Amino acid sequence: MSFPENINSILEKVKASDPKNCRAWFNQLRLAGFEGGLMRIDCPDKTTARYLEENCKSAFIRAAQSVTGRLVTVEFIGRENDYASVSGEKPAARRTSARQDDVTEDVPYRLHPDLIFDNFVVGSCNRLAHASCVAVSASPGNTYNPLFLHGSVGLGKTHLLHAVCCDIIRKNSAAQVRFLTCEEFVNRFIKAISENNLPGFQHTFRNIDILIIDDVQFLRNREGSQEEFFHTFNALYDGRKQIILSADCSPDEIADLQERLVSRFKWGLVARIDAPAHETRAAIVRKKAALRGLTIPDEIPEFVASRITSNIRELEGAITSIYAMAQATGEPVTLELAKSVLGFEPSPQKQSVDFTTIVDAVSKYYKVRLADIKGKGRHKSIIVPRQVCMYLARQMTTLSLEEIGVNVGRRDHTTVMHSIDKIYTLTRDDKVIKKQVEELTALIKPA
Ligand code: ADP
Ligand code: MG
Repeated sequence: MSFPENINSILEKVKASDPKNCRAWFNQLRLAGFEGGLMRIDCPDKTTARYLEENCKSAFIRAAQSVTGRLVTVEFIGRENDYASVSGEKPAARRTSARQDDVTEDVPYRLHPDLIFDNFVVGSCNRLAHASCVAVSASPGNTYNPLFLHGSVGLGKTHLLHAVCCDIIRKNSAAQVRFLTCEEFVNRFIKAISENNLPGFQHTFRNIDILIIDDVQFLRNREGSQEEFFHTFNALYDGRKQIILSADCSPDEIADLQERLVSRFKWGLVARIDAPAHETRAAIVRKKAALRGLTIPDEIPEFVASRITSNIRELEGAITSIYAMAQATGEPVTLELAKSVLGFEPSPQKQSVDFTTIVDAVSKYYKVRLADIKGKGRHKSIIVPRQVCMYLARQMTTLSLEEIGVNVGRRDHTTVMHSIDKIYTLTRDDKVIKKQVEELTALIKPA
């Protein structure tokens, strides 16, 4: 078969085989070369190259082999802007101190190509949060400091933090940015203490321009970490460095947060994000469809927005399901099809799996005891299986957060919500967890 002149025929095949991971920006990909069985594909930047590498590589290899009729492997090359991983420290600087490496070389935060300002829909629910993020990225350290975003799970906090981060680095690639979850911050702090390397930790978090920390409610009940957070905050604030934080509630509502931190978190701007209204939800569906390069009739966003009112993630899931059904049946995407996929009742799949089936499967899969998953223990080996269990229960049953919590050591609904959120994020960022969740879902799913 012939050598492909351009990438279009390959993209067509990838789109057919892997619609969920396809994006409209794929049309910016170019063939950079094809030698010795290696096809090199040029990408707009390193973030997108990494996205392709992690989500679409096998689909591209299969497509390239089918188009060329040869054994081919594929490499994605990001041309510029290495903001795929934000650690802030330049490689040369990292090499200067092996001791600090221990702290700075941890897995850097991966930026996601979808989570940028252009893909964020603004409505009355998030206008202030969005505008303040734009203002901060235009002039870090000079407008609102700190900027504190809060709102329930799934309303776009992490999206906005990614967007600010991308925008700052795009404008100033020399900016020293650290973007991490509060849990990572706390873990690094604990590790630094256990390794007797507090100076290394402090160097990592105090000699930077911008600190972005997601989910700071994680500080609740963590005295030692709050203390360190306080000093980090002061050092950065005094140096007029930008601090951006997010949480699932306002600073006042974070349980057992030291008063001096509560007050500092309120020094700049506190912006709340509310649940989106119908028009915003419909606009989000349109945006997500466009991002994936899907054309959908006008009435579908309206229908999906009226059918799904709670969580934005579920809006996204709905588009995926509708599109997957269209692919599988070969039918066009119509309102009828959308209705048949979403229905007006909870999906039958949700009712046919019970919690016991899920815990049993998870316990066998991870080789951990049933009683441990359902118990109160917090041993490291049990935490991920338990969180996966909560995530699957939320996905596959009609149990409420409270009901799920009762089944796993009487945990309250916010803990359950965060566990689910954690696994959701990992299914996006961590290939191993993604695979485990997929395998478990397949195992549990009723025939
Ligand atoms: P949170 O961090 O508040 O729990 P996320 O930022 O992870 O929520 O958002 C969950 C999903 O919803 C993401 O895929 C995000 O892109 C999407 N989302 C949330 N708000 C918006 C919005 N206003 N416009 C577009 N997508 C949104
Ligand atoms: Mg989040």
